Amino acid sequence: MNLPDVRGTLTENRPLADLTWLRVGGPADALFQPADVDDLQTFLKNLDQTIDVFPMGVGSNLIVRDGGIRAVVIRMGRGFNDISFDGNLVTAGVAALDAHVARKAAAQGLDLTFLRTIPGAIGGAVRMNAGCYGSYVADHFVSAKAVTRRGEIVTLTADDLNFEYRGSTLPEGWVLIEATFKAGNGDATELEARMQAQLKKRDETQPTKDRSAGSTFRNPAGFSSTGQADDVHDLKAWKVIDDAGLRGFSIGGAQMSPMHSNFMINTGDATAHDLESLGEEVRRKVFQNSGLTLRWEIKRIGEFLGKPVVSGCSTG
Ligand SMILES: Cc1cc2nc3c(=O)[nH]c(=O)nc-3n(C[C@H](O)[C@H](O)[C@H](O)COP(=O)(O)OP(=O)(O)OC[C@H]3O[C@@H](n4cnc5c(N)ncnc54)[C@H](O)[C@@H]3O)c2cc1C
Repeated sequence: MNLPDVRGTLTENRPLADLTWLRVGGPADALFQPADVDDLQTFLKNLDQTIDVFPMGVGSNLIVRDGGIRAVVIRMGRGFNDISFDGNLVTAGVAALDAHVARKAAAQGLDLTFLRTIPGAIGGAVRMNAGCYGSYVADHFVSAKAVTRRGEIVTLTADDLNFEYRGSTLPEGWVLIEATFKAGNGDATELEARMQAQLKKRDETQPTKDRSAGSTFRNPAGFSSTGQADDVHDLKAWKVIDDAGLRGFSIGGAQMSPMHSNFMINTGDATAHDLESLGEEVRRKVFQNSGLTLRWEIKRIGEFLGKPVVSGCSTG
């Protein structure tokens, strides 16, 4: 592969399993960890425009397939994790962990507490419109900066990103570099107490110590609080999975968690094929049981190694 010179780290044929929460997946053709914005811009400008790029954060919402990714994966790290404050505005680099942003904001009396228990970084939070406990990125989002596939810096508004429940749109190959959020005011001690309560609740209800990627499927009736009329969460994915008798259901080393039936876990030796097959089998059985088509929330990327996984439903 003909790759431009960089100041950061560029590794060809780099396995990705250790960079994802589920610990599965094959290699990327190359993994680039840019030193800073300038390094990223120069790389993208000089990289053959026919080569695909895939930006990633800390891999907490990804299944990388066993055959790996035919692209340059760009992993944002040091150089993209500054956090700064201007009144009620909080600007964070995309590699800043959500939890760190929430804690630093709280110490300033600013409420971004909803980010505290989400294990990703800010780039993934914007791309996924991450949210919990009733708040979403879209509710606080002011703007973001990205580097285009040709290496130019652009500023994006909410209109450009089309936030929806667990998602937003970004042109192929664009890499987010920072985002600005508007936070409400709060008392630092109370905000800290709220975050501790959220952590406790998570630990009591979700398999936070297992290898997972959070919710496997979107809640069938759930949309984000972005002003859309259909902002309801009556029907939970875990409930329809339970109703189909699939709590604890497993294929190979992949299992629907006995603790939370919408969390798919790697019990130790799962392959990406096991995990994706399990998800598709759950979709098939839920459809048979309730007529509902579950849609994946976890992003599955890359190529199969050998036999492809057969879709359990015709859509989603
Ligand atoms: C235990 C657990 C609990 C979870 N709970 C929640 C929850 O309550 N709410 C929730 O919303 N999510 C939850 N998640 C899912 C996950 O943490 C979020 O989706 C998170 O926002 C993903 O961030 P990441 O940095 O890991 O992104 P990754 O998984 O690395 O990537 C996710 C997507 O974002 C894109 N992306 C990442 N960085 C960039 C960038 N710089 N530029 C462009 N695109 C980028 C990737 O291309 C990919 O499409 C949970 C996950 C786990 C493991």
